[in-house]
Amino acid sequence: MHVVVLGAGYAGVTLTQKLESVLPESVELTLIDASETHLVQHELHRAIRRPSITDAIEIPLSSLFDRATIVTDRITEIDTETNQVSLESGDTLEYAYAAVCLGAETAYYGLAGLKEYGRPLKSVSDAEAIRTEALAAIDSGNPARFVVGGAGLSGVQVAGELATLAAEKDATDRLDIVIVEQLESVAPAFPEAFQTALESELTERGIEIRTETTIRRATESTIETTHDPTDEEHTTDYELFVWTGGIGGSPPMAGDRPAVQSDLRLTDSTFGLGDAVRIVDADGQAVPASASAAIRSARVAANNIRSLLEWNLEGRKGFEPRLEQFRFDVPGWIVSVGDGAVAQVGPKVLTGPAAKTLKASVGAGYLSSVRAIGQATELVSEELQI
Ligand SMILES: Cc1cc2nc3c(=O)[nH]c(=O)nc-3n(C[C@H](O)[C@H](O)[C@H](O)COP(=O)(O)OP(=O)(O)OC[C@H]3O[C@@H](n4cnc5c(N)ncnc54)[C@H](O)[C@@H]3O)c2cc1C
Repeated sequence: MHVVVLGAGYAGVTLTQKLESVLPESVELTLIDASETHLVQHELHRAIRRPSITDAIEIPLSSLFDRATIVTDRITEIDTETNQVSLESGDTLEYAYAAVCLGAETAYYGLAGLKEYGRPLKSVSDAEAIRTEALAAIDSGNPARFVVGGAGLSGVQVAGELATLAAEKDATDRLDIVIVEQLESVAPAFPEAFQTALESELTERGIEIRTETTIRRATESTIETTHDPTDEEHTTDYELFVWTGGIGGSPPMAGDRPAVQSDLRLTDSTFGLGDAVRIVDADGQAVPASASAAIRSARVAANNIRSLLEWNLEGRKGFEPRLEQFRFDVPGWIVSVGDGAVAQVGPKVLTGPAAKTLKASVGAGYLSSVRAIGQATELVSEELQI
Protein backbone atom coordinates (compact mmCIF):
# COMPACT_ATOMS: atom_id res chain seq x y z
CA MET A 1 0.00 0.00 0.00
CA HIS A 2 1.13 3.50 -0.80
CA VAL A 3 0.51 6.68 1.21
CA VAL A 4 1.39 9.95 -0.51
CA VAL A 5 1.78 13.34 1.16
CA LEU A 6 1.45 16.25 -1.28
CA GLY A 7 3.43 19.30 -0.15
CA ALA A 8 6.17 19.71 2.48
CA GLY A 9 5.09 22.79 4.40
CA TYR A 10 4.08 22.70 8.08
CA ALA A 11 1.22 20.25 7.43
CA GLY A 12 3.14 17.95 5.08
CA VAL A 13 6.35 17.75 7.14
CA THR A 14 4.52 17.14 10.42
CA LEU A 15 2.22 14.56 8.83
CA THR A 16 5.05 12.65 7.11
CA GLN A 17 7.11 12.49 10.30
CA LYS A 18 4.12 11.28 12.29
CA LEU A 19 3.25 8.67 9.61
CA GLU A 20 6.85 7.43 9.66
CA SER A 21 6.37 6.55 13.29
CA VAL A 22 2.83 5.09 13.16
CA LEU A 23 2.58 3.26 9.81
CA PRO A 24 3.68 -0.36 9.47
CA GLU A 25 7.04 -0.77 7.65
CA SER A 26 5.25 -2.58 4.80
CA VAL A 27 3.43 0.65 3.84
CA GLU A 28 5.26 2.77 1.28
CA LEU A 29 5.37 6.48 2.19
CA THR A 30 6.16 9.26 -0.31
CA LEU A 31 6.40 13.02 0.19
CA ILE A 32 6.27 15.24 -2.91
CA ASP A 33 7.22 18.91 -3.05
CA ALA A 34 8.33 21.24 -5.83
CA SER A 35 11.15 22.43 -3.57
CA GLU A 36 14.01 20.51 -1.96
CA THR A 37 13.59 22.53 1.23
CA HIS A 38 10.94 23.10 3.88
CA LEU A 39 10.28 26.82 4.26
CA VAL A 40 9.48 28.09 7.77
CA GLN A 41 7.06 30.61 6.31
CA HIS A 42 5.96 32.24 9.56
CA GLU A 43 9.44 33.81 9.83
CA LEU A 44 9.68 34.86 6.17
CA HIS A 45 8.93 38.55 6.81
CA ARG A 46 12.15 38.66 8.88
CA ALA A 47 14.19 38.13 5.70
CA ILE A 48 13.08 41.57 4.46
CA ARG A 49 15.18 43.19 7.19
CA ARG A 50 17.67 40.42 8.00
CA PRO A 51 18.54 38.29 4.96
CA SER A 52 20.86 36.18 7.15
CA ILE A 53 17.80 34.51 8.72
CA THR A 54 17.33 32.54 5.49
CA ASP A 55 19.76 29.84 6.68
CA ALA A 56 17.52 29.16 9.67
CA ILE A 57 14.24 29.02 7.76
CA GLU A 58 15.06 26.86 4.74
CA ILE A 59 15.58 23.25 5.82
CA PRO A 60 16.70 20.56 3.36
CA LEU A 61 13.95 17.93 3.25
CA SER A 62 16.64 15.25 2.99
CA SER A 63 17.60 15.99 6.62
CA LEU A 64 14.11 15.57 8.09
CA PHE A 65 12.94 12.02 7.42
CA ASP A 66 13.92 8.45 8.28
CA ARG A 67 12.22 6.37 5.65
CA ALA A 68 9.84 8.42 3.51
CA THR A 69 10.80 8.67 -0.17
CA ILE A 70 11.16 12.33 -1.10
CA VAL A 71 10.19 13.30 -4.64
CA THR A 72 11.17 16.76 -5.87
CA ASP A 73 8.67 17.59 -8.59
CA ARG A 74 5.70 19.87 -9.23
CA ILE A 75 2.28 18.31 -8.81
CA THR A 76 0.08 19.21 -11.77
CA GLU A 77 -3.07 17.20 -11.11
CA ILE A 78 -4.71 15.22 -8.33
CA ASP A 79 -7.42 12.81 -9.44
CA THR A 80 -9.30 11.90 -6.29
CA GLU A 81 -11.56 9.46 -8.18
CA THR A 82 -8.78 7.26 -9.55
CA ASN A 83 -6.35 8.04 -6.67
CA GLN A 84 -3.64 9.30 -9.03
CA VAL A 85 -1.23 12.21 -8.82
CA SER A 86 0.37 13.63 -11.99
CA LEU A 87 3.72 15.38 -11.86
CA GLU A 88 5.36 17.97 -14.10
CA SER A 89 8.07 15.44 -15.06
CA GLY A 90 5.38 13.28 -16.66
CA ASP A 91 5.41 10.67 -13.86
CA THR A 92 2.21 9.54 -12.19
CA LEU A 93 1.80 8.01 -8.73
CA GLU A 94 -1.06 5.91 -7.44
CA TYR A 95 -2.11 5.97 -3.83
CA ALA A 96 -4.24 4.12 -1.32
CA TYR A 97 -4.40 7.27 0.85
CA ALA A 98 -3.16 10.79 0.16
CA ALA A 99 -3.10 14.07 2.03
CA VAL A 100 -3.24 17.38 0.17
CA CYS A 101 -0.92 19.75 2.06
CA LEU A 102 -0.18 22.19 -0.79
CA GLY A 103 -0.77 25.36 1.20
CA ALA A 104 -2.28 28.43 -0.46
CA GLU A 105 -1.25 30.87 -3.16
CA THR A 106 -1.55 34.63 -3.10
CA ALA A 107 -4.99 35.59 -4.48
CA TYR A 108 -5.51 38.79 -6.47
CA TYR A 109 -9.30 38.51 -6.99
CA GLY A 110 -8.98 39.79 -10.57
CA LEU A 111 -8.44 43.36 -9.33
CA ALA A 112 -6.81 45.53 -11.97
CA GLY A 113 -3.07 45.96 -11.52
CA LEU A 114 -2.86 43.99 -8.26
CA LYS A 115 -0.89 41.05 -9.67
CA GLU A 116 1.37 43.29 -11.78
CA TYR A 117 2.29 45.75 -9.04
CA GLY A 118 1.56 44.14 -5.67
CA ARG A 119 4.62 42.29 -4.33
CA PRO A 120 3.59 38.95 -2.78
CA LEU A 121 5.45 37.32 0.13
CA LYS A 122 5.48 33.55 -0.23
CA SER A 123 9.15 32.75 -0.90
CA VAL A 124 12.65 33.88 0.01
CA SER A 125 13.00 35.50 -3.42
CA ASP A 126 9.80 37.51 -2.73
CA ALA A 127 11.36 38.75 0.52
CA GLU A 128 14.55 39.70 -1.36
CA ALA A 129 12.54 41.64 -3.97
CA ILE A 130 10.67 43.57 -1.24
CA ARG A 131 13.96 44.34 0.55
CA THR A 132 15.58 45.58 -2.67
CA GLU A 133 12.69 47.95 -3.46
CA ALA A 134 12.45 49.18 0.14
CA LEU A 135 16.18 49.92 0.34
CA ALA A 136 16.15 51.68 -3.06
CA ALA A 137 13.40 54.00 -1.80
CA ILE A 138 15.10 54.56 1.57
CA ASP A 139 18.58 55.12 0.06
CA SER A 140 17.21 57.64 -2.49
CA GLY A 141 16.94 60.10 0.40
CA ASN A 142 13.51 61.25 -0.86
CA PRO A 143 10.20 61.02 1.00
CA ALA A 144 8.53 57.69 0.25
CA ARG A 145 5.44 55.68 1.10
CA PHE A 146 5.21 51.91 1.58
CA VAL A 147 1.73 50.38 1.39
CA VAL A 148 0.93 46.93 2.75
CA GLY A 149 -2.38 45.52 1.50
CA GLY A 150 -3.99 43.15 4.00
CA ALA A 151 -3.58 43.17 7.79
CA GLY A 152 -3.57 39.42 8.48
CA LEU A 153 -0.64 37.67 10.20
CA SER A 154 1.71 38.28 7.29
CA GLY A 155 0.64 41.89 6.58
CA VAL A 156 1.09 43.19 10.12
CA GLN A 157 4.48 41.50 10.40
CA VAL A 158 5.64 42.89 7.04
CA ALA A 159 4.59 46.42 8.07
CA GLY A 160 6.52 45.97 11.34
CA GLU A 161 9.67 44.89 9.49
CA LEU A 162 9.47 47.81 7.04
CA ALA A 163 9.02 50.33 9.87
CA THR A 164 11.98 48.88 11.77
CA LEU A 165 14.12 48.79 8.62
CA ALA A 166 13.35 52.48 8.10
CA ALA A 167 14.26 53.23 11.74
CA GLU A 168 17.55 51.33 11.40
CA LYS A 169 18.36 53.49 8.36
CA ASP A 170 17.37 56.73 10.11
CA ALA A 171 14.66 57.25 7.51
CA THR A 172 11.54 57.26 9.73
CA ASP A 173 10.96 61.01 9.24
CA ARG A 174 10.65 60.79 5.48
CA LEU A 175 8.83 57.47 5.25
CA ASP A 176 5.09 56.77 5.50
CA ILE A 177 4.04 53.18 6.11
CA VAL A 178 0.36 52.44 5.59
CA ILE A 179 -1.45 49.16 6.20
CA VAL A 180 -4.80 48.77 4.44
CA GLU A 181 -7.44 46.27 5.58
CA GLN A 182 -10.89 45.65 4.14
CA LEU A 183 -12.37 44.38 7.42
CA GLU A 184 -12.94 46.30 10.66
CA SER A 185 -9.67 45.63 12.40
CA VAL A 186 -6.13 44.35 11.97
CA ALA A 187 -5.73 40.55 12.34
CA PRO A 188 -9.48 40.21 11.66
CA ALA A 189 -9.70 36.45 12.34
CA PHE A 190 -8.12 36.73 15.80
CA PRO A 191 -9.25 37.59 19.37
CA GLU A 192 -10.11 41.21 20.16
CA ALA A 193 -7.50 41.72 22.89
CA PHE A 194 -4.83 40.52 20.45
CA GLN A 195 -6.08 42.92 17.75
CA THR A 196 -6.00 45.88 20.17
CA ALA A 197 -2.44 45.13 21.31
CA LEU A 198 -1.31 44.72 17.71
CA GLU A 199 -2.88 48.04 16.70
CA SER A 200 -0.97 49.87 19.41
CA GLU A 201 2.34 48.18 18.47
CA LEU A 202 1.80 49.25 14.85
CA THR A 203 0.85 52.86 15.67
CA GLU A 204 3.75 53.17 18.13
CA ARG A 205 6.02 52.50 15.17
CA GLY A 206 4.37 55.24 13.14
CA ILE A 207 2.41 52.84 10.92
CA GLU A 208 -0.89 54.27 9.68
CA ILE A 209 -3.76 51.76 9.87
CA ARG A 210 -6.62 52.12 7.38
CA THR A 211 -9.37 49.60 8.14
CA GLU A 212 -12.70 49.17 6.33
CA THR A 213 -10.80 50.19 3.23
CA THR A 214 -10.99 48.12 0.05
CA ILE A 215 -8.27 48.22 -2.59
CA ARG A 216 -9.98 48.47 -5.98
CA ARG A 217 -7.08 48.94 -8.36
CA ALA A 218 -3.31 49.39 -8.47
CA THR A 219 -1.08 51.16 -10.96
CA GLU A 220 2.71 51.36 -11.08
CA SER A 221 2.70 54.11 -8.45
CA THR A 222 -0.78 54.36 -6.91
CA ILE A 223 -3.49 52.32 -5.25
CA GLU A 224 -7.12 53.28 -5.49
CA THR A 225 -9.29 52.49 -2.47
CA THR A 226 -12.84 52.91 -1.22
CA HIS A 227 -13.56 53.63 2.43
CA ASP A 228 -16.45 51.20 2.83
CA PRO A 229 -18.66 52.98 5.42
CA THR A 230 -18.62 56.26 3.46
CA ASP A 231 -18.01 55.02 -0.11
CA GLU A 232 -15.34 57.71 -0.30
CA GLU A 233 -12.72 57.00 -2.98
CA HIS A 234 -9.07 57.71 -2.44
CA THR A 235 -5.84 57.46 -4.44
CA THR A 236 -2.59 56.85 -2.56
CA ASP A 237 0.86 57.16 -4.12
CA TYR A 238 3.43 54.56 -3.18
CA GLU A 239 7.06 53.63 -3.77
CA LEU A 240 6.56 50.04 -2.57
CA PHE A 241 3.30 48.07 -2.51
CA VAL A 242 3.25 44.67 -0.78
CA TRP A 243 0.10 42.56 -1.23
CA THR A 244 -0.72 40.03 1.50
CA GLY A 245 -4.48 40.50 1.37
CA GLY A 246 -5.75 37.20 0.04
CA ILE A 247 -5.17 33.50 -0.29
CA GLY A 248 -6.53 31.04 -2.83
CA GLY A 249 -5.99 27.42 -3.77
CA SER A 250 -3.00 26.11 -5.72
CA PRO A 251 -3.24 25.10 -9.43
CA PRO A 252 -3.68 21.33 -8.79
CA MET A 253 -6.73 22.30 -6.68
CA ALA A 254 -8.00 24.43 -9.61
CA GLY A 255 -7.42 27.53 -7.48
CA ASP A 256 -9.92 26.31 -4.90
CA ARG A 257 -9.60 25.77 -1.13
CA PRO A 258 -12.39 23.26 -0.62
CA ALA A 259 -14.11 22.99 2.76
CA VAL A 260 -13.39 19.93 4.90
CA GLN A 261 -15.14 18.86 8.07
CA SER A 262 -13.35 17.89 11.26
CA ASP A 263 -12.31 14.41 10.02
CA LEU A 264 -10.24 16.31 7.40
CA ARG A 265 -11.49 14.06 4.59
CA LEU A 266 -11.89 15.43 1.07
CA THR A 267 -12.99 12.00 -0.20
CA ASP A 268 -12.86 8.44 1.17
CA SER A 269 -9.12 8.15 0.54
CA THR A 270 -7.92 11.76 0.18
CA PHE A 271 -7.43 14.11 3.12
CA GLY A 272 -6.98 17.89 3.01
CA LEU A 273 -5.20 19.91 5.67
CA GLY A 274 -3.42 23.18 6.38
CA ASP A 275 -3.99 26.23 4.17
CA ALA A 276 -4.93 24.05 1.17
CA VAL A 277 -8.44 23.68 2.59
CA ARG A 278 -10.97 25.59 4.67
CA ILE A 279 -11.35 23.55 7.83
CA VAL A 280 -14.49 23.62 9.94
CA ASP A 281 -13.52 22.02 13.23
CA ALA A 282 -15.42 19.71 15.61
CA ASP A 283 -17.00 22.76 17.32
CA GLY A 284 -18.23 24.08 13.97
CA GLN A 285 -15.63 26.87 14.02
CA ALA A 286 -13.86 28.07 10.86
CA VAL A 287 -10.15 27.49 11.49
CA PRO A 288 -7.84 30.39 10.53
CA ALA A 289 -5.21 29.65 7.88
CA SER A 290 -2.08 29.46 10.02
CA ALA A 291 1.01 27.43 10.74
CA SER A 292 -0.55 26.43 14.09
CA ALA A 293 -3.61 24.96 12.39
CA ALA A 294 -1.50 23.21 9.72
CA ILE A 295 0.64 21.47 12.36
CA ARG A 296 -2.29 20.52 14.56
CA SER A 297 -4.43 19.27 11.67
CA ALA A 298 -1.50 17.07 10.53
CA ARG A 299 -1.49 15.21 13.85
CA VAL A 300 -5.18 14.31 13.49
CA ALA A 301 -4.80 13.35 9.80
CA ALA A 302 -1.92 10.98 10.69
CA ASN A 303 -4.10 9.12 13.21
CA ASN A 304 -7.00 8.90 10.73
CA ILE A 305 -4.81 7.61 7.89
CA ARG A 306 -3.29 5.03 10.23
CA SER A 307 -6.74 3.80 11.40
CA LEU A 308 -8.01 3.47 7.84
CA LEU A 309 -4.85 1.69 6.66
CA GLU A 310 -4.98 -0.81 9.52
CA TRP A 311 -8.64 -1.49 8.70
CA ASN A 312 -7.65 -2.07 5.05
CA LEU A 313 -4.73 -4.31 5.98
CA GLU A 314 -7.10 -6.39 8.12
CA GLY A 315 -9.33 -6.96 5.05
CA ARG A 316 -11.89 -4.23 5.84
CA LYS A 317 -13.60 -6.36 8.48
CA GLY A 318 -16.56 -4.74 10.21
CA PHE A 319 -17.45 -1.08 9.92
CA GLU A 320 -15.01 1.59 8.85
CA PRO A 321 -13.17 2.82 11.98
CA ARG A 322 -14.41 5.93 13.75
CA LEU A 323 -12.13 8.80 12.76
CA GLU A 324 -10.61 11.35 15.11
CA GLN A 325 -12.22 14.80 14.87
CA PHE A 326 -10.04 17.90 14.65
CA ARG A 327 -10.72 20.51 17.30
CA PHE A 328 -8.65 23.69 16.91
CA ASP A 329 -7.62 24.23 20.47
CA VAL A 330 -4.75 26.65 20.25
CA PRO A 331 -3.06 27.95 23.42
CA GLY A 332 -2.54 31.40 21.89
CA TRP A 333 -1.03 33.53 19.15
CA ILE A 334 2.30 35.32 18.76
CA VAL A 335 3.44 37.71 16.08
CA SER A 336 6.40 40.01 15.74
CA VAL A 337 6.08 43.71 14.99
CA GLY A 338 9.61 44.68 14.01
CA ASP A 339 11.76 44.37 17.12
CA GLY A 340 8.67 43.96 19.30
CA ALA A 341 6.09 41.20 19.57
CA VAL A 342 2.54 40.60 20.73
CA ALA A 343 1.53 37.33 22.33
CA GLN A 344 -1.86 36.17 23.48
CA VAL A 345 -1.60 33.29 25.96
CA GLY A 346 -5.07 32.27 27.10
CA PRO A 347 -6.85 35.52 28.07
CA LYS A 348 -3.53 37.29 28.73
CA VAL A 349 -1.85 39.59 26.19
CA LEU A 350 1.90 40.10 26.46
CA THR A 351 4.11 42.61 24.68
CA GLY A 352 7.77 43.67 25.12
CA PRO A 353 10.65 41.33 26.03
CA ALA A 354 8.37 38.58 27.39
CA ALA A 355 6.48 38.33 24.07
CA LYS A 356 9.71 38.53 22.09
CA THR A 357 11.30 35.67 24.01
CA LEU A 358 8.12 33.63 23.64
CA LYS A 359 8.13 34.23 19.87
CA ALA A 360 11.74 33.03 19.58
CA SER A 361 11.05 29.97 21.71
CA VAL A 362 7.90 29.00 19.77
CA GLY A 363 9.79 29.22 16.46
CA ALA A 364 12.70 27.23 17.87
CA GLY A 365 10.28 24.75 19.48
CA TYR A 366 8.71 24.07 16.09
CA LEU A 367 12.11 23.57 14.44
CA SER A 368 13.23 21.19 17.21
CA SER A 369 9.95 19.27 16.93
CA VAL A 370 10.70 18.57 13.25
CA ARG A 371 14.31 17.66 14.18
CA ALA A 372 15.91 20.79 12.68
CA ILE A 373 18.00 21.37 15.79
CA GLY A 374 20.78 23.41 14.11
CA GLN A 375 18.24 25.80 12.56
CA ALA A 376 16.43 26.10 15.92
CA THR A 377 19.59 27.45 17.54
CA GLU A 378 20.24 29.80 14.62
CA LEU A 379 16.69 31.11 14.80
CA VAL A 380 16.95 31.95 18.50
CA SER A 381 20.22 33.87 17.82
CA GLU A 382 18.60 35.74 14.93
CA GLU A 383 15.39 36.52 16.83
CA LEU A 384 17.09 37.66 20.01
CA GLN A 385 20.20 39.06 18.22
CA ILE A 386 22.63 37.15 20.48
C1 LIG B 1 5.11 36.39 6.16
C2 LIG B 1 4.21 35.38 6.81
C3 LIG B 1 4.08 35.36 8.19
C4 LIG B 1 3.25 34.43 8.82
N1 LIG B 1 3.16 34.42 10.17
C5 LIG B 1 2.44 33.45 10.80
C6 LIG B 1 2.42 33.39 12.23
O1 LIG B 1 3.02 34.21 12.92
N2 LIG B 1 1.70 32.37 12.80
C7 LIG B 1 1.03 31.42 12.06
O2 LIG B 1 0.42 30.49 12.64
N3 LIG B 1 1.02 31.49 10.71
C8 LIG B 1 1.72 32.47 10.05
N4 LIG B 1 1.73 32.54 8.68
C9 LIG B 1 0.88 31.61 7.91
C10 LIG B 1 1.57 30.26 7.74
O3 LIG B 1 2.87 30.40 7.24
C11 LIG B 1 0.73 29.37 6.82
O4 LIG B 1 -0.57 29.31 7.34
C12 LIG B 1 1.36 27.98 6.73
O5 LIG B 1 2.56 28.06 5.99
C13 LIG B 1 0.42 26.94 6.12
O6 LIG B 1 1.08 25.71 6.16
P1 LIG B 1 0.79 24.59 5.06
O7 LIG B 1 1.59 23.40 5.43
O8 LIG B 1 -0.68 24.43 4.87
O9 LIG B 1 1.32 25.22 3.69
P2 LIG B 1 2.75 25.77 3.30
O10 LIG B 1 3.59 26.00 4.48
O11 LIG B 1 2.50 26.92 2.39
O12 LIG B 1 3.38 24.56 2.46
C14 LIG B 1 2.88 24.18 1.21
C15 LIG B 1 3.94 23.34 0.52
O13 LIG B 1 3.39 22.82 -0.70
C16 LIG B 1 4.34 22.96 -1.74
N5 LIG B 1 3.60 23.06 -2.99
C17 LIG B 1 2.61 23.94 -3.30
N6 LIG B 1 2.14 23.71 -4.55
C18 LIG B 1 2.85 22.65 -5.03
C19 LIG B 1 2.82 21.91 -6.25
N7 LIG B 1 1.97 22.20 -7.24
N8 LIG B 1 3.68 20.90 -6.39
C20 LIG B 1 4.55 20.56 -5.42
N9 LIG B 1 4.63 21.21 -4.24
C21 LIG B 1 3.79 22.25 -4.05
C22 LIG B 1 5.12 24.22 -1.40
O14 LIG B 1 6.40 24.19 -2.02
C23 LIG B 1 5.19 24.14 0.13
O15 LIG B 1 6.34 23.46 0.56
C24 LIG B 1 2.53 33.49 8.03
C25 LIG B 1 2.66 33.50 6.62
C26 LIG B 1 3.49 34.43 6.01
C27 LIG B 1 3.64 34.41 4.51
